[in-house]
Order: sequence, then C-alpha cells, then structure tokens
Amino acid sequence: MSDQEARVVAQVDKRLFLGGQWRDAASGATFPVEDPSTRETLCEVADAGKEDALAALDIAHRTQREWAAVAPRTRGEILRGGYELLMERQEDLAVLMTLEMGKPLPEARGEIAYAAEFLRWFSEEAVRIEGGFSTSPDGKSRFLIMRQPVGPSMLITPWNFPMAMGTRKIGPAIAAGCTMILKPAHQTPLCALALAGILAEAGLPEGVLSVIPTTSPGAVTEPLLSDGRIRKLSFTGSTAVGRKLLEQSAGQVLRTSMELGGNAPFLVFDDADLEAAVDGAMLAKMRNIGEACTAANRIYAQSGVAAEFAARLSERMGALRLGRGVDEGVQVGPLIDDKARQKVQSLVDDAVGRGARVLVGGGPGEGPGHFYQPTVLADVPMDSELSYTEIFGPVAPVLTFETEQEALAAANDTEFGLVSYLYTRDLNRALRVSEGLETGMVGLNQGIVSNPAAPFGGVKHSGLGREGGRVGIEEFLDTKYVGIGGL
Ligand code: NAP
Repeated sequence: MSDQEARVVAQVDKRLFLGGQWRDAASGATFPVEDPSTRETLCEVADAGKEDALAALDIAHRTQREWAAVAPRTRGEILRGGYELLMERQEDLAVLMTLEMGKPLPEARGEIAYAAEFLRWFSEEAVRIEGGFSTSPDGKSRFLIMRQPVGPSMLITPWNFPMAMGTRKIGPAIAAGCTMILKPAHQTPLCALALAGILAEAGLPEGVLSVIPTTSPGAVTEPLLSDGRIRKLSFTGSTAVGRKLLEQSAGQVLRTSMELGGNAPFLVFDDADLEAAVDGAMLAKMRNIGEACTAANRIYAQSGVAAEFAARLSERMGALRLGRGVDEGVQVGPLIDDKARQKVQSLVDDAVGRGARVLVGGGPGEGPGHFYQPTVLADVPMDSELSYTEIFGPVAPVLTFETEQEALAAANDTEFGLVSYLYTRDLNRALRVSEGLETGMVGLNQGIVSNPAAPFGGVKHSGLGREGGRVGIEEFLDTKYVGIGGL
C-alpha cells in the first residue's frame, strides 16, 4: 500500500457506529476487509452480532420521537453539511472506495459526487414535505392530510456502490425524520463507516444513525425485522436475498423498498446513430466493471448494423486497460471476489459452447486480483445462460434481431424489469418501444439513467418502490388523514 492508501484506511474508525458512539462488537470479534485487486487484507473491522444489533435498535427506537420533532430546515442543513464534507474529502474517499471495492479511481470519484448529490437533493426535499387540506365531497367535513416519518428503518446495502447506495437511503430517511440502522455489505464496510463519521461531523444528532458491519447478515437483521420496533426495510441487493427479506418483513407488516437485480436489454436499431450507440453501450456495460444492477446484460443489435456495431464495440473494449483501480490510467478494475469471476467465466463458456464467437477477451486477467478481461461475444444464441442471468462483469454479449416486435419480445422475456436502453433516431419508434418495455427506467439514446433527481427503481422481480427524485422521500413517510367534523 502507498502512504496515501495507508493513510486513508487508517483515517476510518473500524468500530461499530452505535447511535453516534464508536464501540467494539460486544463479542470483540473483527473481520478482514480485502483489496480485490491484490487479495491483501486492508484492515480488520468490528463484526456486529445480534447483541449489537439489538443495542442499535434500542437506540433507534428511543430516539425516533425526538428526531421526528427536529425542524425540517435543521435536518436539511445536516444533509447539506454532509454533502459539503463528502465533496471536500472526495479524493481520500475515492481512494478508500477503490481499495475496498476495486473500481477505477475516476469512477470512485464519480461515485462520491453521485453519493453526495443524494444528500444535497434530500436536503432540499426535507423542507418540501407537503400535506393537504380539502373539503369532503358532501361538504360536511374537512380532510387534513399529514405526512409523518414511518419510523425506525433498517437499511441494507450491497458492495457495488458502497457510498451511493448508503446515501440514497440515508438521505431521504434523514429528510423524512426517521432514525435508522445501516448494515453495509461485508466486502465494503469502510465507506459506510466513513460516511457515519462525516454525518456525525455534519451535526447528525446522537441516536439517529447506527452502522453495523457484520459477517452474519441473517443472524443480525432477522431479529430486528421481527421485533416490531423497526417499521421499515429498505434493501438494495440481489432478488434472491430481497425475496427472503420480504418474507421476513411480512411478520411485522413492514413498509418495504426493494432495489433488486437487473437484466437490462440494450437495443440498437438500424436507424441509430451507431457511434452514439457504441458510446452508450460502453457506459451501460462497463460502468463499475459491469458490476451494476443497471448494466447492459443483453445487447440486441438489428441485423443491418449488428456486425459493424460488434466490431466497433470490440475495438473499444479491447483497448481498455485492466489493472489495480488506484493506478493511473486503469479503466477496468477487478471483480469483487473469485466466486464472481468463476460465475462470469462459466457464463462465457456456456455461450461459447452454444456457438457464440469471442471477438475480444474471454478469460481472466493477469495478476493476483480477481481480474476478468473486457469481453465481447458475437452470434450469441438467444437461449444462452447469460441472456437470462445477471452477468455482473465486463462481458458484452451481442445478439441479433430482425424486427422491432422481435426485439421487444426478447427484451421483455425476463422476470427482471429494472432498466432498458434503446438507440434509434425514429421518434415514433422511440416512444412506441419505450412504452412497450417492461422496466422501471429506460435510457433513450443514453447509456446511463442514474440521477439523484430522478426516480430510480424497477418493476417485476427488480423491486418495489423508488429511490431519488420527488418520490424518493415518500418511501420514508406515512400519510395520516384527520377527518374534521362538527363544523
Ligand atoms: P446480496 O448478496 O443480495 O447482498 C446485498 C446485501 O444484503 C449485503 O449487505 C448482504 O450482506 C446482505 N444480505 C445477504 N444475505 C442476507 C440475509 N440473509 N439477511 C439480511 N441481509 C443479507 O447482493 P450483492 O451481491 O451484495 O449485490 C449485488 C446485487 O445487488 C445484484 O443483484 C445487483 O443487481 C443488486 N443491486 C441492485 C441495485 C438496484 O438499485 N436495483 C443497485 C445495486 C445492486 P453480506 O455482504 O454480508 O452478504
């Protein structure tokens, strides 16, 4: 590790953040955090158990009423302060993120800015929580509509966007007046702990937030979800785990927000601006090393442009520099672990076994880390495993279609429904296909949809609810109606 790398790791408090107090786990246990590009241990972090989780719950429950009474402007200014501090420390935080997660430094810088933007957006939303007043249709009573925080919230986040997935939940929860417990992914606890420290510095009162990294996620979160004092679960992660958590949430009838897996189709029509489509595909496929729920998983190119599109994409993919994300000029980092790399390899092998051609890449990269080469596959048969499995790696399968109807049917032939991408210059087709795609989001002539000011989320098995945008705060608010009579 360089001096700068050692310094940014040393700066983070590695203990549990229990309502503003830094504490070792009750058991004294710790677990190692690994750099996926070297497989070396970066540091040890406190490993929360059930006892710590219940302590966090006591704090969240105890603080809820008092926190809900804090003025919206004050809550907004704490968020704004968090935004400023994240941006001030963008460089150190980006290095920290790259070390524990692997993404190239420029992308980590981008994620810190994206994460900060959620705090800024919700600092502005905190003072715009609106209720209502109206007269009943028969004129005999009045309706007063109040918006109130849903209450103590459990937040569970994945490793792929270790800072932004945290602020996308913490931002609206603070703005709405909820207390919360964050359980980050075990691979990337450092960003979450750094964020906790920053929010405390920005003035977040004690008791509002706890952060409990753990290696026993089920044993730690299940007792909280079944307790009754938690009123909300906001989860981002795989559909399999989301489904399990939905079942657990049923017992206490929790409000739930689920941001789950994706299998994004990327459609390129004959009339598309081909260079723009290649740019968009590079972004949609390679952002975050392909480890994004929004990653283009299946690229469908119309027969008139398929060969040219695949050739141009291969040229761009083949020129990418693979390596340790903190190193200058590196554009593609390692996958998160060896299991992920083996999964990607087996999907590529399956497609090749069914007749796909490898245009570029197709195997692991060099070095001790979990590297996989940027890969383009052409002539991928529609029944290949990777057309219905989330690849989560730098592999772009190009499939060919003839008609718009065929493309739409293939795009929708999945249980997932997070995002789709569409490149065409025909306005009618653009609107027709956007309407026909069964996803929560569509990138129309653009390869990225994530924006804190827009409602992010999926349909079908990709989730429930939306994060960001005007509706993001709704996930943390209840509506109360007071019927007023005797007038
Ligand atoms: P994951 O395995 O589902 O884990 C996500 C989180 O859930 C982690 O914090 C994990 O903890 C925790 N977890 C695992 N099992 C649990 C259990 N039994 N009870 C409670 N918590 C549990 O997903 P991942 O591999 O980290 O992330 C990749 C997935 O997230 C992909 O499917 C991707 O599409 C999805 N994702 C979706 C969005 C979206 O906005 N829709 C955004 C980003 C990622 P541990 O780390 O300890 O296992």
